[in-house]
Amino acid sequence: MPMEQDLIHLYNLTRVDLIRLMGELGQPAFRAKQIYRHLYVNLTTSFDAMTDLPTALRETLAGRVTFTSLTLRTILTADQGMTRKALFALPDGSPAEAVLMVYPDRATVCVSSQSGCPMACVFCATGKLGHLHDLTAGQIIEQVLWAERTLKEIAADARSRGEKISDHLTNVVYMGMGEPFNNYQEWWTSVERLHDPEGFNFGARNFTVSTVGLIPGIRRLAEESLPINLAISLHAPDDELRSNMMPVNRRYPIKDLIDAVRDYTAQTRRRVSFEYVLLKEKNDLPEQAERLADLLRPAHQAPLLCHVNLIPWNPVPGSPLSRSDRKRVLAFQEVLLQRGVACTVRVERGAEIAAACGQLAGAV
Ligand code: SAH
Repeated sequence: MPMEQDLIHLYNLTRVDLIRLMGELGQPAFRAKQIYRHLYVNLTTSFDAMTDLPTALRETLAGRVTFTSLTLRTILTADQGMTRKALFALPDGSPAEAVLMVYPDRATVCVSSQSGCPMACVFCATGKLGHLHDLTAGQIIEQVLWAERTLKEIAADARSRGEKISDHLTNVVYMGMGEPFNNYQEWWTSVERLHDPEGFNFGARNFTVSTVGLIPGIRRLAEESLPINLAISLHAPDDELRSNMMPVNRRYPIKDLIDAVRDYTAQTRRRVSFEYVLLKEKNDLPEQAERLADLLRPAHQAPLLCHVNLIPWNPVPGSPLSRSDRKRVLAFQEVLLQRGVACTVRVERGAEIAAACGQLAGAV
């Protein structure tokens, strides 16, 4: 028997890889197509359920490949089961978390691209873990498929009570643990795989990636053929404060970042969002909102094609920071709106199970 770590992780294989594997096993190519459909259309989780494959092949495969490379450790629920956080463990026990948020008319999963994170933003719980691992494309995909299967259970349950909930995810957001652009290739492979019309068939416009502002990643995304959405974690209107909150700003300061975003919107004609976490008396003053508006709607340039998403800071254990209260949030928003900057306040889920933005740190 091969050791666990020698098994091929199925969700790391492209369609072409699967065909090649079938070739090695002396199998016709259409077997690859069958397996691919099982993985991404039927969401099958074991070879026993692939009853259209010969038993001998199923047995051979069971000795060579594995379905999962993440172990589901715990599921925490909130909002009457409509928010669920899955805590997965990598083979060495490092954490990766995914959060499913179900709404009457849509369902979003927020997935991790790394275990821990190297970016060390001072206000974020994941940053405190440091960088543990880059996730493979397969490990990212597994989180999305967990969410889709869970959603189907929730929808079936609702149906039995005479309620209606969509049984398909409508949004995949790469806003869990980690910095997607710091693991670009594996992250992008997950997008392409999940998008593949022969498989999971997820619409490109329903993916959103969020970055701390790694400029090479922004430029690379602008060249990709799939029109996914881009969100940028900005969080401060000047370099001094931003560098203080986000070490990455020393490498990619605000002006360069805004220039890169401007190029991105010009090239793709897609609107970007800026995330802005509100910290009491640190970055939530009305004059800071004015400076933010100056950046996004400068006097002598066309306004940036963008939208601002304000996120009241979610508490992180042991942090000296504090959350802006509702009044300060609305005052900040008002300044932006007055200046013509489209701006909404993020409605959050899961703070009570440490599943909200910036709270993912592998704690049970
Ligand atoms: N590394 C990427 C992806 C993570 S997305 C990025 O930073 O964009 C998670 C979002 O939640 C980011 O905008 C992040 O800045 C924000 N965030 C981090 N800590 C937070 C906290 N404690 N409360 C609210 N939002 C937080």
